Amino acid sequence: MTEEQLRQYLEFYEDLGIKDLYRRGAAQGEAKEPVLEPATQELASPPTANRPPLVVLPLAPAHDNLAKIVEDIGDCKRCRLHEGRNKIVFGTGNEQARLVFVGEGPGADEDEQGTPFVGRAGQLLTQMIEGTAKKEGIPLLRKDVYICNVVKCRPPENRTPLPDEMEICGQFLFRQLEAIRPKAICALGSTAAKALLATKDGVMRLRGKWHKWRDFPVIVTYHPSYLLRPYNQDAKREAWEDLKKALHFVYD
Ligand code: URA
Repeated sequence: MTEEQLRQYLEFYEDLGIKDLYRRGAAQGEAKEPVLEPATQELASPPTANRPPLVVLPLAPAHDNLAKIVEDIGDCKRCRLHEGRNKIVFGTGNEQARLVFVGEGPGADEDEQGTPFVGRAGQLLTQMIEGTAKKEGIPLLRKDVYICNVVKCRPPENRTPLPDEMEICGQFLFRQLEAIRPKAICALGSTAAKALLATKDGVMRLRGKWHKWRDFPVIVTYHPSYLLRPYNQDAKREAWEDLKKALHFVYD
């Protein structure tokens, strides 16, 4: 990206009312250590007339943790999704989890309760985690992993989050993942895969093998909502295989 493109990009976000941006790490495949120093940096090019210089914050504040991220999210109005939400659905589980599940975004039940994956899809996810672990002789309950979503507010009519919503909320997902530093991440469905792997490939192409988000191994599997549909027997079997693979990788 040229300096001019970067300036236009930042101005776009400034027009949206976003003054603080966190710098993302290198593109996939050339993962570099994230910059965690609290240094701020001003753009090298002069700001356009009557615009104050935009301050670009580093990837994440030093000593970041989940409580600080919740505080930074605050009563978030950074994108349109805040308009219809009841509760921000941040995430739930063990802050030191070795395995993190990332879904798409809250549904009606989650929006009401403020906790991810508590509706029908959530019950299936819990069953999948606890049932597979038990079968494989791994002592693991839902509370031992961490569960969150790409976007923290419910999209209207449960629609797929839009690219700008994913981009804006993604900075908080990335901070959550860096704060937890799990041994592996499980992306549930194509929206989570897209957010983490910057790919247009669907779950069918991505599942069954390991990918990387920064330094973290990522496995992609079907979203539990998809598995709830009655005709997806093959997908169910494959999702169980994916989960088994993830659990053994993390807990063996
Ligand atoms: N679907 C998701 O992607 N996330 C939830 O929290 C619930 C349903």
